[in-house]
Amino acid sequence: MTCVFCNIVEGKIPAKLVLDEPELLAFRDINPVAPTHVLVIPKRHIATLAELTEAEAAIIGKMFLAARRVAEMENVVARGFRTVINAGPDAGQTVFHVHLHVIAGRRMAWPPG
Ligand code: AMP
Ligand code: ZN
Repeated sequence: MTCVFCNIVEGKIPAKLVLDEPELLAFRDINPVAPTHVLVIPKRHIATLAELTEAEAAIIGKMFLAARRVAEMENVVARGFRTVINAGPDAGQTVFHVHLHVIAGRRMAWPPG
């Protein structure tokens, strides 16, 4: 099965890269919902947080460290930034390769829609 984010990792489709590290990639969301909207993904395919295994848990922490670095690079730490992982239909997950949304640059509502 083809995975759009695996294709980005393999360079088969283009992306606006923000970070390229041995284990993870960060790139700009194609349909941004805020001035900063970056996706942080593991290079290794993990379909969904709903199926995360113990062996895969460490990469999730590294993704959050990368998210903080993205926020620093985007100069949004002081104003604030939101990190989101959607899992499953009610959350609106559309791409089944785990990704951490880093969203910032405007005032956001809570609870989310
Ligand atoms: P989610 O709804 O949490 O599964 O989020 C998937 C996100 O991936 C959406 O915000 C899409 O805009 C984004 N997306 C889908 N395809 C691409 C792509 N080729 N490059 C960058 N972002 C993408
Ligand atoms: Zn994938």
